[in-house]
Amino acid sequence: MFPTAFVAQMQGQLGTTEYEDFLNAFALPIPVSVRRNSLKLKNLEENYDGVKWNKEGVYLPDRPIFTLDPRLHGGAYYVQEASSMLLWAVLEQTVDLAAPLKVLDLAAAPGGKSTLLVAALSAESLLISNEVIKTRYQILRENLGKWGYPNVVCTNQDSREFAPLQGQFDLVLLDAPCSGEGLFRKDPTAMKEWSPEHVQFCAARQRRILAEASPLLKPGGILIYCTCTYNDFENALNVEWSQDNLDLVPLSLTFPSEWGIQAREFGYQCYPHRVKGEGFFITAFRQEKKHPLLKASPAKGFWKIGNRKNTPGLETWLDPGFSYLALESPHGELAALPKACESFFMELSPSLRRWDPILELGTFKHQDFIPAPTLALSTVVHPKLPNQSLDLSTALKYLRKDVFELTDVPNGWSLVNFENINLGWIKSIKGRINNYYPKEWRIRMATPNAPNPEPKSSPD
Ligand code: SAM
Repeated sequence: MFPTAFVAQMQGQLGTTEYEDFLNAFALPIPVSVRRNSLKLKNLEENYDGVKWNKEGVYLPDRPIFTLDPRLHGGAYYVQEASSMLLWAVLEQTVDLAAPLKVLDLAAAPGGKSTLLVAALSAESLLISNEVIKTRYQILRENLGKWGYPNVVCTNQDSREFAPLQGQFDLVLLDAPCSGEGLFRKDPTAMKEWSPEHVQFCAARQRRILAEASPLLKPGGILIYCTCTYNDFENALNVEWSQDNLDLVPLSLTFPSEWGIQAREFGYQCYPHRVKGEGFFITAFRQEKKHPLLKASPAKGFWKIGNRKNTPGLETWLDPGFSYLALESPHGELAALPKACESFFMELSPSLRRWDPILELGTFKHQDFIPAPTLALSTVVHPKLPNQSLDLSTALKYLRKDVFELTDVPNGWSLVNFENINLGWIKSIKGRINNYYPKEWRIRMATPNAPNPEPKSSPD
């Protein structure tokens, strides 16, 4: 089933006996794992096996239809392959997570590692989460918006466009675009795109991005590099190349032997026959060189610092403990960033081509405030707003943007929740419920056995 050159590569790397174990792992059930959002969910199912290297990660006994679980749409957990969660253990060993940090996730969509990063960082830290491909950028924003942490700004640029930010970051994550060998078990179609030439193409592109990422670090800053591949070109040889060419020092990490993670000469490898997860490679470097800060160009961008005279009444929508910097778009949309990371934002944002704060608040239409979906899903939405609990079937109707009825809902805006996880906004007008779930986010999948799978849309 594998391409012949891949078999030769893996036999060379593992030896023929261990290669048999690797091969046998492809006949085993594929582990299903999720990572909890600890700000939204007290615990996931208690009896499930935990992921050894991430206290928020658990394995599910089988694969549910995630799309039909409203808690997923509320950002209560993220479906993430277990080996990728090793990033958490690497952060714990390399970074002072209690400190305020300037962090860049250079290749972030769909957002798995960014959601992990922001959960691990202090609330005073600022995460710039970047994705170069426009369609993937929208998915990244949706996932981070649902995850709900406000200290995130998203950017949609190529890694080379970060050059004006040299010397700025405490931590840069490069989860590099790669040949995807580690996902062959989960996604056998990935094999069709694999070839030795494609591996070389990926390795060269990774070196280019590594060379662009390295100067962005402060002296002593940490670069974490990971791929979901096994081959040395994209992993060990790129680490060695970075050590020789980029003033980066690879760091030695330690993991308990029972985790099954293989220390290789230049990094750490997860194999599916050794860990309960897929193929993954990770390494961390420290930046030795001082790259001087560059003078920021005059602030530009779509969002501007908001005029607080236009924002009275916002306090009733936000947690009273949340101090924020208000931002405003040319169309009057309002957004917020925590005050705690304002100075980082001021240092970085003038040198970004285009940035989007993750926490959009809404828009004033005359005296009325129309709240944005991300506000409902944010961890800083006011806890005392009217909030209607939905049962599973109504929650799914809501998430399909279907029409539904509720009794005893006060006039005006309310949050709706499923099992205390906020899902979004409704507006009740004389007993009629208007569903304000964004149409781009709506569930399109039919409920199994549902008599009428086509959702009826309610007005926007
Ligand atoms: N970190 C993501 C996560 O955990 O959900 C997965 C990232 S995926 C392995 C690699 C990403 O790199 C892709 O989304 C791809 O579009 C992006 N990419 C490709 N070329 C890039 C470049 N030159 N600079 C930055 N990102 C790039």
